[in-house]
Amino acid sequence: MTGRLVVVSGPSGVGKGTVIAELLRRRPDLWLSVSTTTRPPRPGEQDGREYFFVSEEEFNQIVDDGGFLEWARYAGNLYGTQKQPVTQRTNSGTSVLLEIDLAGARQIRRNDPDALLVFISPPDEEELARRLRGRGTETSDVTKDRLARAKDEIAASSEFDRVLVNSEVSATADQLLAWCESSGV
Ligand code: 5GP
Repeated sequence: MTGRLVVVSGPSGVGKGTVIAELLRRRPDLWLSVSTTTRPPRPGEQDGREYFFVSEEEFNQIVDDGGFLEWARYAGNLYGTQKQPVTQRTNSGTSVLLEIDLAGARQIRRNDPDALLVFISPPDEEELARRLRGRGTETSDVTKDRLARAKDEIAASSEFDRVLVNSEVSATADQLLAWCESSGV
């Protein structure tokens, strides 16, 4: 049996990464895809672990070679999911988690009707703003840009198969797990 794609999307700062880490602890058989980006690494991020960090030139070369399953520009940087490692897993029966933005989720939806799409939503906008500022990894302009984008993303959440409000990480991970399992993943 081939593995499925599970797309996890949601505004920057909503806590997608923490929810996914919790899901992976409970379901180590799932594989989290490592995206490729032109964004510079944040302190503590390692090439090949959080992302493959590449130049814009290298990124465009992969685009020209048809190497991306999906890609998008987000807050001034390029982000994409490389096809080969993902299809290698799904072909051998492993389901793959993609933590990607709204534009990427839409591309997956168009190309793969079997994909499951979940949107992680903040309890409210103030909480999201607080988390984004508290993270302190971006300049205030970048934070503003990400907050503006969050509003558009939240407005499109009805396009997803499931919306989970992340008030508490372990409860959200439970809901995500239950939903994956009820969908046959
Ligand atoms: P960050 O810079 O905070 O790591 O990520 C910014 C946004 O890019 C997040 O919403 C994240 O989900 C999204 N993102 C990360 N990897 C990919 C990818 O491969 N494709 C797309 N379309 N978005 C991605």
